[in-house]
Amino acid sequence: MTLWTEALRRAELLAAGAVLARRGLVRGREGNLSCRIGDGAVLLTPRGADKGRLIGADLVLGALDAPPPAAASSEALAHYAVYRACPDVRALVHAHPPGVLALAASGWVPDPHALEEGLALVPRVELVGAAAPGSVDLAAACADALRRAPAAVLLGHGVFCAGSDFAQAVERVEVLELLAGVALAAGRRTGAA
Ligand SMILES: [Zn+2]
Repeated sequence: MTLWTEALRRAELLAAGAVLARRGLVRGREGNLSCRIGDGAVLLTPRGADKGRLIGADLVLGALDAPPPAAASSEALAHYAVYRACPDVRALVHAHPPGVLALAASGWVPDPHALEEGLALVPRVELVGAAAPGSVDLAAACADALRRAPAAVLLGHGVFCAGSDFAQAVERVEVLELLAGVALAAGRRTGAA
C-alpha cells in the first residue's frame, strides 16, 4: 500500500463525511465512517467529531488484528467486526437518516423493490434488533447482517451500509433514505424484514 493510496483513502473519507453531513444523513457528531487500507489496516473517523468538518489529521488508523484504538469512533467494534467477517467490504458508513429512522420506528425497512434504482444499488436490506450503541452485541449483529446484505437498518438507531468504496457505501445510504421518503410520503410501510 503506497502513501499515495493511503492519502487518497483519507481524502475520500473526508469527502464522504462532508456529503453525509450536507445531506442531513448525519447531524453534528453522529455517525462514523471507515475504510480498509490494504488488507490489514482500517482508517476510521475519531470518537465524537463532526463528520462535516473533519480534517485528515483527525482520522485514526488501526490494525485489524488488534483492538480498535481508543481514539477511534464509538462504533469501531462494529466496523472491525464487519471487516473481519466480510472480506469484500472495503468501506463502511454508519449514518442516521431521518426517513429510515421514522420507518424503522415501526419495525419496517425500506423496500428495494419500490424503485428500480433501489434494487440495483441495494439488492437486500437487513434489520438489526435493538442493541446498545458501541456494544459487542451490536458489532456481532452488524457483521452477521452485512454478511447477507450490503445494508442494515439498526432499530431505533440508524443504518450501516457497506461498499467496495465510499462512493458505493454513501450511495446506498442515500438510496435507503430515498426509499424511506417515498414510502412515508405515500403513506405506506413496505418491506418488512
Ligand atoms: Zn449511530
